[in-house]
Formats: sequence, C-alpha cells, structure tokens
Amino acid sequence: MKDEQVQQVRDALERTALRPCLKCGCVPADAAGMFTSPNAQKYGAPIGKDRFIFYPLCQECRKLPGVLTEVESYAEKVLGGCRN
Ligand SMILES: [Zn+2]
Repeated sequence: MKDEQVQQVRDALERTALRPCLKCGCVPADAAGMFTSPNAQKYGAPIGKDRFIFYPLCQECRKLPGVLTEVESYAEKVLGGCRN
C-alpha cells in the first residue's frame, strides 16, 4: 500500500469511528475496522476494482463472537443491494 493510501485509510478509520456503533448504536463507536473482499463487486465496487469497507464498531461489540460475519452481511446488503 502506498503512503498516500495509508493516509486515506487512516482518515477514513478516524471518520468512521465517530459514527454510531453498527451493532449497539452507541455514539461515537470510538473504534472502527476495515475489510476488503476478493468479491468487491458484491459490495458495489465496479468490476476490476477493489473496495475497502469501513465499519464503526465499539470496543465491546468488537469482542462479540460472529460479529464480523454480521458486519460483512450488513455491508453486502447496504452496499450491494442496488445491484441485482
Ligand atoms: Zn457497540
């Protein structure tokens, strides 16, 4: 990853952490995560493009078992929903 991209990712994580927790809704979530997918199109990326998916999740909710699977299906629904 280039320096410029690293900075963009950092900025995006900081902004994301200010949003309500995806799971419990506490504000701000104060923590954020990111994932990429080999099937970026599933998350609304144009063909041939990667997509970074950022999500706010508070420290408590991050520890819950299975929470990342929930985040992935939520992101798929929200970002990929209009492309059937
Ligand atoms: Zn939470």
